[in-house]
Amino acid sequence: MHAEVIAIGDELTSGQRLDTNSRWMATELGVLGVPVTFHTTVPDTLEAGIEAFRLAAARAPIVVVTGGLGPTADDLTRDVLAAVAGVPLDLSGDALAAVEARFSKRGMPMPESNRRQAMFPRGSRIIPNPEGTAPGIDVDLPGGPGRACRVFALPGVPAEMKVMWKATVEPAVMAMLPDRATIVQRRIKCFGAGESAVEAMLPDLVRRGRDPLVGITAHEATITLRIAARGRDEAECLAKMAPTEAIIRDCLGTIAYGVEDDEIEDAVLAAVASSGKSLASVESGTAGRVASLLAQADGRRGATGGVFRGGSVMPAGLADVRTAAEDARRQWTAAVGLAVGDVRPAAEGRRAVDVAIADDAGVTVLEHVFGGGVDLAPNRAAKTAINLVRLRMLEGNAS
Ligand code: AMP
Ligand code: MG
Repeated sequence: MHAEVIAIGDELTSGQRLDTNSRWMATELGVLGVPVTFHTTVPDTLEAGIEAFRLAAARAPIVVVTGGLGPTADDLTRDVLAAVAGVPLDLSGDALAAVEARFSKRGMPMPESNRRQAMFPRGSRIIPNPEGTAPGIDVDLPGGPGRACRVFALPGVPAEMKVMWKATVEPAVMAMLPDRATIVQRRIKCFGAGESAVEAMLPDLVRRGRDPLVGITAHEATITLRIAARGRDEAECLAKMAPTEAIIRDCLGTIAYGVEDDEIEDAVLAAVASSGKSLASVESGTAGRVASLLAQADGRRGATGGVFRGGSVMPAGLADVRTAAEDARRQWTAAVGLAVGDVRPAAEGRRAVDVAIADDAGVTVLEHVFGGGVDLAPNRAAKTAINLVRLRMLEGNAS
């Protein structure tokens, strides 16, 4: 069972916007064991849409689509699907009520143009949209000889598309798979090494066709390893995944800081808390990101919060991080003080920042040199600095 992906929108074909939806959906399909054989990108015209769908439907049993479901005249996906299916568009009373309800909840009358979003090709199924006004469309098109092609059309807005995918499209695709396999995924989050360095530390795990499959992605200096296993049921998947996860943890050590949606700042506060300590900060080169990350993570801890006591933010000019880390400890009556200085240029286009960590055993000062663009520097420096606190806690617990 293979699939194709179609992305619709002038903003995509003109290059004004990057088509991230196709990449995301193709990755998701790959995890389900459904390879994607074609990506097509078309502008907002009837002719291009019709041609793309005819070709895709003749080649593949599943086609997933984003874009062109809005209320405006250039949103033509529903018209294209009706034309290719050879059926008229019908107004759905339920869908109309849902679109109207979204407007009335915001105290606004529904513009007449939004009625279009309640029109569906006859015989199609509605994919509910809990996040926006545009429902999706699940419809069968005439496919290759002797078979139909199932199309799932979703809105272009990535957040809406992803929620609808998880709730409706993924289960529907899984039900179409011949062996009705169960797929279980687990994400291991890593910080402290780049994507290629992490991959190099793993013994040939990130390769296509492996079972369990291991994928690697990077976002804002955090590396995510995704393990996906197929099996008869959840227990079999978990059993298959365990040795792979053990290899990853063995190879990466403290670089693997958490799982699923854990952020590095969550792991930092967890480490501080499990050492029975509290944390305060002062920063100058990171525009308040250290305090912001830690305060947000502390908020997520709910009843176990209060680990982060407070932080000071200076625009620039914190030179003596050693003294500042001690002062922060005292000012906020915290067990550990973290000070982060200015970010400055270093050799070979890299950047450097001084970080100090003070606790009752003394003060450690270190210079951290890192790469990456100037825009990312404050964020990278902040995450690196707080990660040093986590590593310090882990060392303390080990000794
Ligand atoms: P649409 O559903 O066509 O009205 O798209 C709504 C918005 O979603 C567009 O204005 C884009 O900002 C965004 N969008 C549409 N298609 C994509 C895509 N393939 N990748 C990422 N963003 C998209
Ligand atoms: Mg559009």
